[in-house]
Amino acid sequence: VRCSFQHLGTTCKSKCKHRCCHPKYQFMCIFCKIAAGEIPSTKVYEDETVFAFRDIAPQAPTHILVIPKAHIGSVAEVTPANSAVVAHIFEVIPMIAQTEGLSEGYRVVSNCGAHAGQTVHHLHFHILGGKQLAMEMA
Ligand code: AMP
Ligand code: ZN
Repeated sequence: VRCSFQHLGTTCKSKCKHRCCHPKYQFMCIFCKIAAGEIPSTKVYEDETVFAFRDIAPQAPTHILVIPKAHIGSVAEVTPANSAVVAHIFEVIPMIAQTEGLSEGYRVVSNCGAHAGQTVHHLHFHILGGKQLAMEMA
């Protein structure tokens, strides 16, 4: 797997800290590739650890996905070792909501596993808003 810094994963010099040079990250899922800019997306926010982009099949006038850049499979894989980025995501979400003009409110959803219908196995939080949302959650 070639990382976006054009290093071959296992041959990277130790100075390279890019995550996909680490053997653990040599598999990049579709959202890893979106966060790395290797698959195009409509970006709405980016910082060192978090990436947000518009859902390709929006279910509300505003439908944004917020993801950690580092691969976490789902809520079920959040641990004390990686939870800081989740806290940061919940700082970023209200910033995005304000930028998007969601002053009337919005819903944050994370599908985890088969019963929830998770289709992309990289942790993501849906921000849904811009209309009165369905009252039923399940
Ligand atoms: P979930 O069903 O909770 O796993 O959500 C996955 C979401 O990712 C769905 O709402 C899809 O529409 C969305 N999605 C899948 N591929 C892309 C993509 N390439 N760009 C933007 N959104 C995507
Ligand atoms: Zn991933």
